[in-house]
Amino acid sequence: MREPVWPPVEPPAGALALHRALAALPPPDGWWGLNPEPDPSALRVHLAEGRSIGDVWPPALRPDAFFGLVRVMAAAAAPHFPGGDAEAVSADLTRAETEMARLAPEDMGRWVLRGECGLKGRAGFLVEHARRAYLRAYARTVTKRVPELETGVLWSRRICPVCGSLPGLGRIMKRQAGVPGPRLLICRRCATNWRLPRFVCPFCPEEEPGDIVTVEGDAQAELHVCKRCRRYLKVIREEMVDDPTLWDVQTLYLDLLAEHMGFLPGAEPVDPAAPSPRH
Ligand SMILES: [Zn+2]
Ligand SMILES: [Zn+2]
Repeated sequence: MREPVWPPVEPPAGALALHRALAALPPPDGWWGLNPEPDPSALRVHLAEGRSIGDVWPPALRPDAFFGLVRVMAAAAAPHFPGGDAEAVSADLTRAETEMARLAPEDMGRWVLRGECGLKGRAGFLVEHARRAYLRAYARTVTKRVPELETGVLWSRRICPVCGSLPGLGRIMKRQAGVPGPRLLICRRCATNWRLPRFVCPFCPEEEPGDIVTVEGDAQAELHVCKRCRRYLKVIREEMVDDPTLWDVQTLYLDLLAEHMGFLPGAEPVDPAAPSPRH
């Protein structure tokens, strides 16, 4: 293994404390419905056709439940926003809630899956975090019906099989009998894991394999870059990633290194509004 050429950079303490406070909140429960209840055999057929689970069985969610969670998150995050104007954030959230209050639960569920947030700054950050919390609860439930998703048998596309997003992170499974384990892709939004061969680029067009090389690695993680599309993927080794958002913040040094080498993130950055060394 090569020595890292770029020393790990500690993310700002405020950013980690903020994400830890949000990660410590209990996951939302009992908020969504699936109508009809997914039938595993039908799910497998749709997945084999390349359709994501969210396309086939989107969640349903009441707007008041969603904004209830956003306000719980706002209270947990407030001490970690330096110089935060809590009243302005609350006014932004109230406006957004009023606009969305008339949505039917099915439309609210589709918005959580795919819709534009529209809010900027701290209110946008909180709404995006609430969306992720709901999407992760939804993904945990629906992927239990198809545990073979991680084997790569059912799904070989680049996008997330649950919410349709591009992968934000990767994970290399443990070596077995001296052979490196497979690489799983991780969705930054719903945290679903799925398999794509190690040397296939997740960001090149689906008919192109891309040109993936590992340019940096340490005991914890490595950086996969594609010389064809100039995108990069941060990849953790071995361990289960219980909270990809926290790991993402902890490895900001890999983003800085990739950008320094002229590569672009493949999917949206995790938290554009959160405190980070780049702001
Ligand atoms: Zn997803
Ligand atoms: Zn590529």
